[in-house]
Amino acid sequence: MKRLAVIGQPVVHSRSPAMHSAAFEALGIDDDWSYGAIELSPDEFGRRVPELERDGYVGANVTVPHKQAALAIADDASEAAREIGAANTLSFRDGRIHADNTDAPGLIASLPEPPSGGRALVLGAGGSARAVVWALRGAGAEVEIWNRTSARAEELALRFGARAVAAGDLETGAYDVVVNATSVGMDPATTSNRVDPSLKPLPIDADELRASQVVVDLVYASGETDLARAARGRGATVVDGLEVLVHQGAESLRIWTGLAPPLEAMRKAARSN
Ligand code: NAP
Repeated sequence: MKRLAVIGQPVVHSRSPAMHSAAFEALGIDDDWSYGAIELSPDEFGRRVPELERDGYVGANVTVPHKQAALAIADDASEAAREIGAANTLSFRDGRIHADNTDAPGLIASLPEPPSGGRALVLGAGGSARAVVWALRGAGAEVEIWNRTSARAEELALRFGARAVAAGDLETGAYDVVVNATSVGMDPATTSNRVDPSLKPLPIDADELRASQVVVDLVYASGETDLARAARGRGATVVDGLEVLVHQGAESLRIWTGLAPPLEAMRKAARSN
């Protein structure tokens, strides 16, 4: 049995085990492949991960708070993981650990069309915003970054050739793609963080959103987030956090198995959990 798992803290709410198990079934490889969840504290991460291959694991997804540690522990890493400074996908082979970042290609794959030449606004400058900005810049978009703590937006913009913007300079209706990579909108039921679920903390004027825009909300809540609801109400194309999760998972699956991911089965499992 080839074992895989998502490693995080907490991981109890993760949709990844259901999503990947459904993929193995759809591909007819569920007798040989399994996917579970391993909860590890930051202290345990560095000790436990190198032991996983011995226990039959061929790889793992890594989520909060271990994505930087996952890159640090790897013997080698993809260009995406190195440049973003974080990894969400590990592969174990012959005593070596290889790190990838599929958050970036997953984001691009979840968009209805490539963002090349378009103008994008990224809200947030945390871990996931780094992958989003790197991905959008790599795909040829012009990127502006707003963050509550403006110094972090400036640092990220400088690193990846984007532009930091202040709330007062935002033109909500002018962007082809808007990505919420802040934790605003997170469901209190699935997180220990206390975050305002309303649109208020974001400098977005919902009335200015347009039907030609794509609005991506990385946050996945048990219901629709306020941002997704507002964007849908204005006729914009909405890509929610679960759709992005499905695409990053699909890219990880492709790395581990070499097979074309069964997106529909993964999507159905991620949403029915
Ligand atoms: P992070 O590194 O902790 O960054 C959090 C970001 O949110 C920072 O930019 C922070 O701004 C901002 N923020 C937090 N509270 C805020 C508030 N009240 N008002 C305005 N801004 C606020 O988190 P992360 O790992 O990037 O994750 C961000 C979100 O993306 C989470 O909800 C996570 O679940 C989601 N996510 C989804 C996927 C997916 O596959 N769908 C993948 C990765 C992450 P400051 O810098 O000012 O603190």
